[in-house]
Amino acid sequence: MKIISDVNELKTYLKKEKKIIGFVPTMGALHDGHLSLIKKAKNECELIVVSIFVNPTQFLVGEDLDKYPSRDEADKKICKLAGVDVVFLPQKEDIYGSDEVSLKAPNVRGFVLEGATRPGHFDGVLTVVNKLFNIVNPDYAYFGKKDAQQLNLISLMVKQLFIDVKIVAVDTVRESDGLALSSRNIYLSKEQRKGALKISSSLYEASKMVQKKIYTSKEIKKAMSEILKPLEVGYVEILSRDFEVIDTIEIGNTVILVETLVGSTRLLDNIWL
Ligand code: AMP
Repeated sequence: MKIISDVNELKTYLKKEKKIIGFVPTMGALHDGHLSLIKKAKNECELIVVSIFVNPTQFLVGEDLDKYPSRDEADKKICKLAGVDVVFLPQKEDIYGSDEVSLKAPNVRGFVLEGATRPGHFDGVLTVVNKLFNIVNPDYAYFGKKDAQQLNLISLMVKQLFIDVKIVAVDTVRESDGLALSSRNIYLSKEQRKGALKISSSLYEASKMVQKKIYTSKEIKKAMSEILKPLEVGYVEILSRDFEVIDTIEIGNTVILVETLVGSTRLLDNIWL
């Protein structure tokens, strides 16, 4: 497995290899969620590149950029065991200059949900993912459904900027008790982790209601909000796959999204119906 920090070195290496490239962008502190993206990439591609870069431009002032978990050595071992071919591990200076051209998330989809509580967050995400795509030039790029709004905006960017990459959406990996895996889960105390289980419980309840043929968004959101108490809820939203608010669940075209603050940790989760 190669570990490369230099942009030009990586570009030259990948061009020379002439293989079908599968790309998994991450911010490190790898867990089984990241691994499922890597496994899917391995099944479909010839050469796997994982990037580990805690992108500063997607963090707002006062967020957890400085304390975001960094575990480069463990991450490299995980990648090696998973059969990754190249770990791209750039420094901030390798990716950003002093006077930057950057992308803007669109108003309608970029400034709701996460974009509302974290203005500018998706500008940073799109800018860095676009840069990474230009560096790696992958055939396939793998993203978790867990970050549904991110996935939606990246798919839109690829379409609108005519980027030649196929975006692959990967199901959310959970702990056996339902908690969605996240690098931020390590911030949770035992008590907070227990409370955080309300998030997946509320989503399971929504799914059960739909199985009982209750399709009204209002009714489902009300039941979910009851379960989520007393967590500090950022949003509970029921949207179409195009991220438009819908009053009635349409099977095959619905995402139910939850964001909560557990202590000072922001947790996201969703289900796709
Ligand atoms: P991050 O390192 O948090 O930026 O995540 C890197 C990629 O892993 C993103 O595409 C995430 O959506 C994905 N991811 C994070 N957590 C999970 C999970 N529990 N299951 C599946 N994919 C995940």
